[in-house]
Amino acid sequence: MEQSKLTTITPTICSTTPPSFRRRKRKIIIILGPTGAGKSRLSIDIATRLLFTNCEIINSDKMQVYKGLDITTNKITLQQQLNIPHHLLGVIDPTKTIFTPSDFRKLASEIISDVKSRRGLPIIVGGSNSLIHSLVTKRYDPKTNFFVESDPNMDPDRDTDPNPLRYDCCFIWVDVCLPVLNQYLSKRVDEMLDSGMFEELGEFFRSGEHKRVKSSGLGQAIGVPEFETYFEKFPGFRRPESDGSDSGEVYSEAVKKIKENTCQLAKKQVSKILRLRDAGWDLKKIDATEAFRAVVTADCGGGRVAEIWEKQVVEPSMKIVMHFLDE
Ligand code: ATP
Repeated sequence: MEQSKLTTITPTICSTTPPSFRRRKRKIIIILGPTGAGKSRLSIDIATRLLFTNCEIINSDKMQVYKGLDITTNKITLQQQLNIPHHLLGVIDPTKTIFTPSDFRKLASEIISDVKSRRGLPIIVGGSNSLIHSLVTKRYDPKTNFFVESDPNMDPDRDTDPNPLRYDCCFIWVDVCLPVLNQYLSKRVDEMLDSGMFEELGEFFRSGEHKRVKSSGLGQAIGVPEFETYFEKFPGFRRPESDGSDSGEVYSEAVKKIKENTCQLAKKQVSKILRLRDAGWDLKKIDATEAFRAVVTADCGGGRVAEIWEKQVVEPSMKIVMHFLDE
């Protein structure tokens, strides 16, 4: 969700007493949801409201782990991070490594241990369900990367939990009904283009970086394959002329594809979340639809959006988190 629309609310500080850390050793918060649903914003809202807990955010979006293409992959900016420490965000060299779920499992576990040693609370945030699954499941198989449905060695008399987790997890699923999310995503693509996505991609192609990155890593970020034809055909790396020339058509086609593929991604991500829920994960669903409806409704101001977001997303999420931490 666009951060600027949500800045008018003063945070209500929900934690007034220092929480006990004794039972907290394995506790982590996980915010999942489709692309564009406002996960990053919510993570900052939660972190800034937990006064006596030092929250640290661990990115679980598999494209945002890479250095580069910050606008195209929609990374949270330093300014928006509000001094909350962020990990695994823009740190992997995309020309050297393809970042796998196994890598995430290893690195994120180490970061969680570090955060815990500082008595902090890790918040995992991002839409890549394969990364989240690899991190928290006890039954991880690096060959399949996603979902080990059942363990052939499981003893049904002794092992009652079919999906044992390595951490004590509070899953918050930010959901937005798809037609509304799709409208928002289309608007977001236009905003990303206005804030420099085209120029960023132009530089990526002009410098030859697109040939150096691993094609199955950052080369797959939505925006890269879609704009490839444009930059091949028009190597001036400029926006199309407004004279009705061929470049305008190819540009519009690329933008259309980006919008379609982003909506497809959101749909796929939701279906993977449903699989996780069906596999027995206790996902607490937060419905952010009304806040997004307000964003896509042209006559609704930013203050109203922030109000709805606060009431319908932040407040219920904080209740869930406080209950989880107090358990
Ligand atoms: P999969 O099983 O498809 O790998 P996943 O849960 O690991 O799923 P997703 O986050 O759903 O990963 O990403 C799937 C694809 O969506 C990526 O390969 C990429 O094309 C695109 N994608 C994901 N996140 C971004 C992003 N931040 N920016 C641009 N494209 C993205």
